[in-house]
Amino acid sequence: MKKDLKIYQLPAGCKTKFRSFKKTISESKDKMIDFSDYNIVYEKSDYCFNSLDDIYTKFNVNHPSDFKGHSLSISDIVQIGDEWHFVDSIGFNKLDESHIKKMFCTRCSSIVFKSENQAYSFQCLTCDEDLYSLEVKEKI
Ligand SMILES: [Zn+2]
Repeated sequence: MKKDLKIYQLPAGCKTKFRSFKKTISESKDKMIDFSDYNIVYEKSDYCFNSLDDIYTKFNVNHPSDFKGHSLSISDIVQIGDEWHFVDSIGFNKLDESHIKKMFCTRCSSIVFKSENQAYSFQCLTCDEDLYSLEVKEKI
């Protein structure tokens, strides 16, 4: 099948990096995965694959040359179309809305992620801009 693929990873030093889904959720204040802690490390439209396991293998042992993240590991998130999958200690854990804490861009209402630029807090992929905390909101 062909779907849009995005891969998100927590930055080095993030306290929930390399934690299982259960541990991350149970130790989170809101019992949720906070997407605004994540950096986007890969993005491809119409990515061709057969299964999630395919993606796992590809991003572990045979990285595409434009992949700038580390090998796919526990705590990473894989987005396929509008589905989100948490890389868990064994396999993937599909995330539903109740597991996901999102922050939104005040300009376009897209979900924001952690900025790779230290001067900013967030980045909006739709606007292609880095944002300050006051440029994001909790609800659309
Ligand atoms: Zn935006």
